[in-house]
Amino acid sequence: MRLSAYFLPLLKENPSEAQIVSHRLMLRAGMIRQSSAGIYSWLPLGFRVLKKVEQIVREEQDRSGAQEVLMPTIQPADLWRESGRYDDYGKEMLRIRDRHERDMLYGPTNEEQITDIFRGALKSYRDLPKNLYHIQWKFRDEVRPRFGVMRGREFLMKDAYSFDLDAKGAKHSYNKMFVAYLRTFARMGLKAIPMRAETGPIGGDLSHEFIILAETGESAVYCDKAWLETDILKAADGLDFDSDLEPFFRQWTSLYAATDDMHDPAKCPLPAEQLVTARGIEVGHIFFFGTKYSKPMNAVVAGPKGESVPVEMGSYGIGVSRLVGAIIEASHDERGIIWPEAVAPFRVGLVNLRAGDAACVAAADALYTRLRSAGVETLYDDRDESPGGKFATMDLIGLPWQLVIGPRGLAAGTVELKSRRTGERQEVSSEAALAKLTGE
Ligand code: ATP
Ligand code: MG
Repeated sequence: MRLSAYFLPLLKENPSEAQIVSHRLMLRAGMIRQSSAGIYSWLPLGFRVLKKVEQIVREEQDRSGAQEVLMPTIQPADLWRESGRYDDYGKEMLRIRDRHERDMLYGPTNEEQITDIFRGALKSYRDLPKNLYHIQWKFRDEVRPRFGVMRGREFLMKDAYSFDLDAKGAKHSYNKMFVAYLRTFARMGLKAIPMRAETGPIGGDLSHEFIILAETGESAVYCDKAWLETDILKAADGLDFDSDLEPFFRQWTSLYAATDDMHDPAKCPLPAEQLVTARGIEVGHIFFFGTKYSKPMNAVVAGPKGESVPVEMGSYGIGVSRLVGAIIEASHDERGIIWPEAVAPFRVGLVNLRAGDAACVAAADALYTRLRSAGVETLYDDRDESPGGKFATMDLIGLPWQLVIGPRGLAAGTVELKSRRTGERQEVSSEAALAKLTGE
């Protein structure tokens, strides 16, 4: 993509409404634009990141055996009357009435909807287990929408729902999601720590929040120092989802980690020097709630002896749009965003320092063509702007690699390759730069 043609409305000044760094940087980098409180449009640069995050979430759900569906955003109130949550949910639920005076709502979550789909379709224990997920916009009329996409009113969530015949099967489904979550966040360059959590209005017995540590996090969290040195992706690598995952689950929940609600200093088993006290951002939350919805909504299957068994369920959420902000909170410096490669909107920022110089233009155009044909996502700054302005833009939008073409280097037969994360610069031949960026 040529920057001269790209829709990238950058802001020079820090927007006064943004209190935290990710919100500031997302506005300054032209990723999002507010529509009303807690509701945002995603502009091209932001949308590319959102899609990458979504895709990683999807791949790891699929890997675990969950199947993707797409349920509507608008749901009938009657389903929520069946579960008893219609009145309980309160003002966070956006209630709508259609032209026939039927009560509808914009879904804040989908337990009722999926239970309804399940009970209409599956009747036998032989149909179990199943795990269905979707990635869909949710609406919660939060009292205090703030921090940009981190606490929005409209936000994108991945929510999965598991159905099992018995509690043992349901725990296995829970463990699969536990592993999938660890892998998902690690692939995004995040260390998300599973913390024992309260189940809240979703209800149930067993629940973990996945929390990344960041100064601007909304909750206070406590964990074992050892968490900071773990490599979860390595630990979960090659794990067979059909094997017994209980030992893995036990191992990764044995290190102390608790949210404020669950942490009791008097009962904390850790010596003071081993305890990290920090702030955290909740990026995912998994629940096992048994028959909380299947009983009132009559989601039953015929068991092996023909008996009627309410299915054991769990639900599993990931804040897809929140993650975009959370990744920035975890990865930035005073000049801007530092995207982890896996979610970067483009891999390379190609910068021509002299838009008016025919030799520079020819060299930069040629590199752009080569990168594109090798399938390397490249944003090509071909604008007529000062070098300082171009560098500042590239640092702000945080692409992993900057490839800089200027008259001096060209005369010496070199280009400059800079890593945004380390700041390290190398003067190399165009061929060497291309080989590095295309991974040849
Ligand atoms: P929180 O405690 O942050 O309000 P929650 O516990 O109400 O979240 P869940 O019902 O567990 O949220 O939703 C699953 C995931 O959706 C959360 O882990 C979070 O990442 C994301 N999420 C929840 N509320 C919001 C919101 N208002 N804006 C953006 N993401 C959200
Ligand atoms: Mg939660």
